Amino acid sequence: MKNHLSDRINSMSTSATLAMAAKARELKSEGKDIIGLSLGEPDFNIPDFIKDAAKEAIDQNYSSYSPVDGYADLKQAIANKFKRDNGLTYGLNQIVVSTGAKQSLANIAMIMLNAGDEVILPAPYWVSYSDIVKLAGGVPVEVPTSIDTDFKMTPDQLEKAITPKTKMMWFSSPCNPSGSVYNKEELEGLAAVLKNHPNIFVVSDEIYEHINFRGGHVSIANVEGMYDRTITVNGVSKAFAMTGWRIGYIGGPEWIAKACTKFQGQITSGANAIAQRSTIAALEAPVSSIKFMIDEFHKRRDLILELLGEIEGFNLNVPEGAFYVFPDISSFFGKTLKGTLINNASDFALYLLENANVATVTGEAFGNPNCIRISYAASEKELREAISRIKAVV
Ligand code: PMP
Ligand code: GLU
Repeated sequence: MKNHLSDRINSMSTSATLAMAAKARELKSEGKDIIGLSLGEPDFNIPDFIKDAAKEAIDQNYSSYSPVDGYADLKQAIANKFKRDNGLTYGLNQIVVSTGAKQSLANIAMIMLNAGDEVILPAPYWVSYSDIVKLAGGVPVEVPTSIDTDFKMTPDQLEKAITPKTKMMWFSSPCNPSGSVYNKEELEGLAAVLKNHPNIFVVSDEIYEHINFRGGHVSIANVEGMYDRTITVNGVSKAFAMTGWRIGYIGGPEWIAKACTKFQGQITSGANAIAQRSTIAALEAPVSSIKFMIDEFHKRRDLILELLGEIEGFNLNVPEGAFYVFPDISSFFGKTLKGTLINNASDFALYLLENANVATVTGEAFGNPNCIRISYAASEKELREAISRIKAVV
């Protein structure tokens, strides 16, 4: 049959994280004993005080369209959060609430990029950056990093990647998938390069800010010279285990917030009213209210590093945040495991799924073909079982 779909969708890849999660779900429903370590999704329940706020919002009839950019009192809570946690001052006209940080990112791409504009992505990067940029007509420019620099881009690499067409740089810290956290000096190093290129804007994706085992999260918008050219992206999916409630937000220059609101107003309108109301409760709570989750992720990080460290061929960095490990497994390339030739990270991830019943994600989706991503947002029991199964088949 003739393909009637647009070039836009035909050239887009399916989200590898969501595709692997769907595959794991399908195999599970067929009765296979799959352990899903592919999706970056906290396995905790939403804290009760947030659920209570949602129930209250329903009873209070928050059922109409909200303002496109979010309720004013939610934006005030976000402004307070930016001040409290990040030392950033954003007025309400600089904040836009969206249906997940994913939509925040898509808004930014759509309002900032013209065809051919280049966006620097230190690789590995979060899986959707590249396709969101391409959807908006932009050109992703990957800057490969390796385990030797803890998967962080150096100022020198940034300088070399800049061309007259560079419009933006997008990165996450703590990083999905590597768990790397940029410290103040490292961010200052990148800012020093950007100082000589005043037309380049930065998207700082800080959705894992609280899941940081070293502490001391730094927002690049707080580095000298960066405030007016940074869009700080955040959301409640990770810190508050609210993935399905779909609330993300940005703080940035007013003209950018205004354009995002205009765009969102034609696409989706304001985010879900009940989820917005409960986000106020989430953001107003002290960070100590979610410390139990962070402590638990920290324990699991140490456990998974210990267990994977026992497997020959897994080369690991020590992730300081988020809830992923990103082992370099390229030592298996060219080898045959149980009759299967492993040529690349995708072969390896598929091999683990089919032989160990463990779902992971290929590093290729994150712009690093030597690694796989393993999410440790799972119980200790599942992690122990998964790693022991992996050990048995490699
Ligand atoms: N950025 C990063 C780095 C992520 O890992 C995710 C996870 N989904 C998102 C953005 C999008 O989050 P949300 O659930 O708020 O759309
Ligand atoms: N951010 C999570 C991940 O990377 C959720 C899945 C997604 O939104 O792609 O696995």
